[in-house]
Amino acid sequence: MNYTTVIGLECHVELSTKTKAYCSCSTEFGGLPNTHVCPVCLGLPGALPVINKEVVSRAIKAGLALNCNITPYQRYDRKNYFYPDTPKNYQITQQALPICTDGWVEIDTQQGKKKIRIERIHMEEDAGKQLHTKAGTLVDYNRAGVPLIEIVTRPDLRSKEEATAFMTKLRAILQAIGVSDVRMEEGSLRVDLNVSLMPEGSETFGVRAEIKNLNSFKAMEKAVAYETQRQAQALAQGEEMLEQTRRWDEACGQTLLMRSKEMANDYRYFPEGDLVGLAIDDEWIERVRATLPELPHDQAERFVRDYGISAYDAMVLTQERAMAQFFDEAAALSGDGKACANWLMGDVSRLLNEEAKTAQELTFTPKDLYDLTVLIAEGTISNAAGKKVLEAMFHEGKKPQALVESLGLAQVSDEDELLREVQKALDANPKVIEDYRNGKTKIVGFAVGLVMKATKGKANPSIINRLVSEEVEKRARQ
Ligand SMILES: [Zn+2]
Repeated sequence: MNYTTVIGLECHVELSTKTKAYCSCSTEFGGLPNTHVCPVCLGLPGALPVINKEVVSRAIKAGLALNCNITPYQRYDRKNYFYPDTPKNYQITQQALPICTDGWVEIDTQQGKKKIRIERIHMEEDAGKQLHTKAGTLVDYNRAGVPLIEIVTRPDLRSKEEATAFMTKLRAILQAIGVSDVRMEEGSLRVDLNVSLMPEGSETFGVRAEIKNLNSFKAMEKAVAYETQRQAQALAQGEEMLEQTRRWDEACGQTLLMRSKEMANDYRYFPEGDLVGLAIDDEWIERVRATLPELPHDQAERFVRDYGISAYDAMVLTQERAMAQFFDEAAALSGDGKACANWLMGDVSRLLNEEAKTAQELTFTPKDLYDLTVLIAEGTISNAAGKKVLEAMFHEGKKPQALVESLGLAQVSDEDELLREVQKALDANPKVIEDYRNGKTKIVGFAVGLVMKATKGKANPSIINRLVSEEVEKRARQ
């Protein structure tokens, strides 16, 4: 039987506020263990939490950008569990009344645009970190109490490609609105998958498995593929399907069973009595709405309209805020969006990937890229030399004009000088003219190659092409 894969996502997003969700401790990443702590986030008796308004504003901002309704009355709940990384033995979260509901994100699929519904966004807090050493397990509470939002989708995704398209879009939006730095490798964006199968054509969902511990889009895709296969096999063998929690194991490339439903935790949610209820009025929502920047999909549409680049290129360029801004500035300066897009999506992206860097870390400016395109368009350097200049700009952060000089890449466009090179090459290879007379007109290309080689690629190729054609023609008639 053929099955359809049904996927829902739960994304945990660390908010990049300066202070924690319920105390004034710093949220900065990488401090010495247990230096960003206080009685509140350590859960000491008698310490009372206070709502960080900025966390609420950022959750509202995410909700507005993701087309959600904002719940006017906020209530917080306790999720109880005993584990060393949770000093209070409960997490302050929102169970009954999430701050945002019923939103959507539009993604591009092979079948066209598709809306992925968002069920809810709620505020919660992070736990501490455990470090397992030979001497025993150590706990660092610096992360305990760092604000998170959890974004839960409806089970609207049908393939690993759709899951990645959704996550790419979600990450771009959250980065653009500045609520989080959404770095999966640093754990500020984490995703859990719900995967189930249903017979093709059916509308009844199967029993789902929840997959945890996915730390990259690649891992997410591999986990979807593995789960689809595992569940199809289990169904084919007539196994009884039970809800279960599994985790992705990168080393063995499999999902492994953590617990089945009978062993599921009972969190005994109840209202958080230490925090007051919170009303969010329209004025607050409108104040936040006014801070929303141009969102990635609107920006992509503008790039297509204003700079004449393809929808695909615009989509790729708007996946990262810094890259989109860089392109916007460079294209506005040069008026040649296609050239800028080609440089950024080609050589610049390749160099960034090689060094595992983001566009934010580029050491040259949009003006520098524009200057480089001018140097090529005016014929000062060839396109091939341009690539060398770009690499040097990337590594050394120097200006393109200075690099053209220091690398000796300036193109020779002086026609008299180039004609002498052409004549020298033809004098040394008399067979070229002979072949040409015998109808082998393609030999002209060979002669161009000879001159380019003799001038070490610095000759202006369009001038050389013309001069070689003219000179060969002239000599062939003599
Ligand atoms: Zn604290």
